[in-house]
Amino acid sequence: MRKFTGLFHRFRLAFALALVIAATSLIWLQNASAGNEVNVYSYRQPYLVDPLFEAFTKKSGIKVNVIFAKTGLIERMAAEGRNSPADVLLTVDIGRLTSVVKKGVSQAVTSSALNGNIPENYRDPAGHWFGLSRRARVVYASKDRVQQNAITYEELADPKWKGRICIRSGQHVYNIALIASMIAHHGEAAAKQWLQGVKTNLAGKPAGNDRAQVKRVFSGECDLAVGNTYYMAKMALNDKQPEQKQWAAAVKMLFPNTGDRGTHVNVSGMVLAKHAPNQANAVQLMEFLSGADAQSIYATTNHEYPVAEEVALSEMVESWGVLKADPISLSTISELRDKASRLVDEVLFNDGPTS
Ligand code: FE
Repeated sequence: MRKFTGLFHRFRLAFALALVIAATSLIWLQNASAGNEVNVYSYRQPYLVDPLFEAFTKKSGIKVNVIFAKTGLIERMAAEGRNSPADVLLTVDIGRLTSVVKKGVSQAVTSSALNGNIPENYRDPAGHWFGLSRRARVVYASKDRVQQNAITYEELADPKWKGRICIRSGQHVYNIALIASMIAHHGEAAAKQWLQGVKTNLAGKPAGNDRAQVKRVFSGECDLAVGNTYYMAKMALNDKQPEQKQWAAAVKMLFPNTGDRGTHVNVSGMVLAKHAPNQANAVQLMEFLSGADAQSIYATTNHEYPVAEEVALSEMVESWGVLKADPISLSTISELRDKASRLVDEVLFNDGPTS
């Protein structure tokens, strides 16, 4: 009996020891893999996101490690598979956000904070992507040669603008989303006819980025250019390339369709990585980015519109007047992107006005 009690006692000791070891290694594991950190893959530039991450670390004590790149991050996440260190991916445009989901490298998040901070039309109904800032796609019009102060996207196909419009590639994600919104509002056939009309009105072949189109207005090559709002601020405040201040000074921004559905907007946004090793920290970061403090950093640093309407705008953005945004859901836009891309090819948009 005593022998048995002794054995039992030793067993209990061994069991307790095993428990201690297990608990310690759990803590080690947590420190090694989960630690007090979060890893971000970012297509957004350091000048914009660094202030956001500094504010997050200050508030939460969680360190943010960032990998910046202009291309290849989504492919990298796919190649890394379950060993990927990525927790959160930051990118711009609904097209790129949905391509992350299509690649299968995201996971859904259910968070009342995210759902409360971000309006329904700017997040995935399934929780895979969330918008963080808004950018309106507007018309930059020559101050000298365009008298009117209001316009619609539909009007860009009016023959009165023949030879007077400049725009970047029809296949660029910004234009694909805009064309998708035309399909959503008018149907595919009418959108195709419209796109054909815009093509006929082009001053030349679509080429260059949004700012290059404004430069073409400045130089007299065209009278209207299509571009995103924040470029106005980037040009007007550009001390490194002061010639851009002249481009900005030559144009006025017309926010299309303020008289009806409102101006087309797109978003920058975020995704939780499928194999996020620091998932709890990642969700905490995502919630922070959607909150008022981070939203005002987006607004002031990059002159974008916060997703939450109650957040204050930058002084420059404020001076543009009130944004009346087309309330259509960006998930509807994302579903029509393939059709939009096909239309661009069908009307040979990128060949320019000839043919
Ligand atoms: Fe841009």
